[in-house]
Amino acid sequence: MKTNLVLFGKPGAGKGTQASFLKETYRLKHISTGDVFRYNISENTPLGQLAKSYMDQGDLVPDEVTIQMLEAEVNKFPDVAGFIFDGFPRTTAQAEALDQFLSRKNMSISGTIALEADEDVLTARLLERGKESGRPDDQDETKIRNRFEEYNKKTAPLEAYYRNQNKFYEVDGIGEISEITQRISKVIDSL
Ligand code: AMP
Repeated sequence: MKTNLVLFGKPGAGKGTQASFLKETYRLKHISTGDVFRYNISENTPLGQLAKSYMDQGDLVPDEVTIQMLEAEVNKFPDVAGFIFDGFPRTTAQAEALDQFLSRKNMSISGTIALEADEDVLTARLLERGKESGRPDDQDETKIRNRFEEYNKKTAPLEAYYRNQNKFYEVDGIGEISEITQRISKVIDSL
């Protein structure tokens, strides 16, 4: 059985940072939809051009485009031991599409791990990250607030979606990076 993890949490919660450690330990393919979009923007592809207008405002990219892209990414790696989904799913439609897609491939989500942290801490982290990354959506507090709003409105309901499947695990996202990795590893090892 493949191990397929969803890393869940608000912008800045540390999903990408943690995924980069976990993918080594568990030999999983890390797919960050935000990274794939940013790559497409840097290459100025039609997908990048479409995504940019949403991302720059901190709005979610439409489901249809995002789901198609995610499925194409997964299909590129048929032989991996499993996936870490980072920043996907972000809506109920995406979660349902992911379940259906994985089930067509005889796979399923093993667990959804939520990194918990409050919005003030996260805002400070994102503004700090924005100085180095140059990401326009990390540099402006209004855009950051909008990303939290999108999360609270569209993504937060997924907690109930995965709880209903007994697949939701909460981890305290505040602390040393390595401590948090250990907390997550404990969950993964229990799956
Ligand atoms: P992230 O790198 O995960 O913070 O994502 C940056 C931006 O990319 C988000 O604010 C959205 O505009 C877009 N994005 C990334 N993943 C998704 C997704 N699953 N659904 C819709 N938009 C997404």
